[in-house]
Amino acid sequence: MNNKIDAETNPLIAKNIKFLNRKQKLMINNEWVEPSSGNFIDVVDPATENVVSHIAAGNKVDIDKAVNAANEAFKCWSKVTPLTRQSLLLQLADLMEKNAERLSEIESIDNGKSLIIARNGDVGSSINFVRYMAGWATKIMGSTLDISAPHMPGAEFHAYIKKQPVGVIGAIVPWNFPLSMAIWKIAPALATGCTIVLKPAEQTSLSALILAELIIEAGFPPGAVNIVTGYGLEAGNSLVTNPGVNKITFTGSVETGKIVGRAAVAEMKRFTLELGGKSPIIIRKDANIDTAILGASMAIFFNQGQTCTAGSRLYIHQSIFDKVVDGVSKFAENINVQPGYDAACGMGPLVSDEQRNRVFGFIKSGIEEGAEVITGAKKLPGAGYFITPTVLKTSQKMKVVQEEIFGPVVCAMPFDDDEEALTLANDTRYGLAASVWTQDLRSAHDLAANIHAGTVWVNCHNVFDPNLPFGGVKQSGIGRELGKASIDGYLEDKTVLMKLN
Ligand code: NAD
Repeated sequence: MNNKIDAETNPLIAKNIKFLNRKQKLMINNEWVEPSSGNFIDVVDPATENVVSHIAAGNKVDIDKAVNAANEAFKCWSKVTPLTRQSLLLQLADLMEKNAERLSEIESIDNGKSLIIARNGDVGSSINFVRYMAGWATKIMGSTLDISAPHMPGAEFHAYIKKQPVGVIGAIVPWNFPLSMAIWKIAPALATGCTIVLKPAEQTSLSALILAELIIEAGFPPGAVNIVTGYGLEAGNSLVTNPGVNKITFTGSVETGKIVGRAAVAEMKRFTLELGGKSPIIIRKDANIDTAILGASMAIFFNQGQTCTAGSRLYIHQSIFDKVVDGVSKFAENINVQPGYDAACGMGPLVSDEQRNRVFGFIKSGIEEGAEVITGAKKLPGAGYFITPTVLKTSQKMKVVQEEIFGPVVCAMPFDDDEEALTLANDTRYGLAASVWTQDLRSAHDLAANIHAGTVWVNCHNVFDPNLPFGGVKQSGIGRELGKASIDGYLEDKTVLMKLN
């Protein structure tokens, strides 16, 4: 690995050189602090393999400090008026908007994604989400209920349920949408009066550190948000096991999610798990074929296929199978694979060498089990973790069909009727999302009702809205983010019963 920042040939790095060259510290109590270990982790630009910055390797000592700060802050933040919480979140959204280009550039350098996706998919949607969650701060409602208490005849009562913040939140996020994943947790936590310690992914922590700057500038009190970078086994595990944390909200792989869930239960912490997926796309013979080809292609190749909802299993009615596979393959072959910050980039590099090796491992296993490579499956020569978008013809029981690859690889398979499509779509341990492509309303509703997934899109894929709950069934997770469901996840019901006579 080249141990040098590439400011001479990369205009984006030149523009952000001051930030990248600064010593990245931890943000605890609105202060920038050195990691107690004194250790730092290389930040690698996946397009060049150059080291472009260093983040602090936080450990248990740092996590303990951050959780203490969050507990101290909770005493005042949970009492702050809803209108103040709303105003501060709106102030944060304005600052993010002012810094949108800087955030997008850093996201592209850090993750490898195209600048266009970083601007719209990551930063733009994060700003919208903060504004949406700001609105909830002033709309949290409990309820009053009439009760019977039959064993106390003649007694009069006043009973109500009050919504109260859960407390200190421990948030752990992955590297595919670093800013969005962080903001999906920070914004509802702050809106409800919780305080939070965030552990970003070690591969992509930079945008969270810019966000930390903006949180301080917006005027949030010390300790309301704390950001501790570092490795999962060290900083992440210390956060999950810290007794001062009341709820863990985790986004990442199923395997890590199970470890996190078990650790949370050991202390009876509340937890939300947003995990992996192997989302099916069903294209019926009555679909608008051109629209379906475009939609299926975008569903898998968007963000280099590193999307939890990537449409990675493509079930096509046998009468149109060859036409659709041909269309998706042509789309794949026309994608410009190059650094995310190049203007003509259609698809950037994968996030790391480890991830690229993992994706190739899956492709190899598919070929060994008899999959046919229609296009792709190649590394680009030279530096950078690039891979060409890949279309495979597969069969249902192959590992490449059953396991999440998290890369630009789609597995195409034919079906005869809706019943078979449904059986194949549901034959998976995952249940995050799915899409159905058809012009028949009744079939659309039938399939939507019977696919086992947290979200089913019809004639579209990967369309998110702050108001629509998002999350998985089966092994894709527990709980929901976005929408009112997200707010509910940061609140506890307190029952109050008052005898009046
Ligand atoms: P990962 O599980 O390896 O890591 C996720 C986070 O957990 C990282 O911050 C990591 O440092 C931390 N971590 C690792 N081991 C830990 C431990 N023992 N204790 C505590 N924290 C630990 O996942 P990844 O490779 O970073 O991300 C890819 C995965 O995330 C994919 O499976 C993808 O589907 C999933 N994902 C899901 C959603 C969703 O909303 N459902 C969204 C994005 C990504």
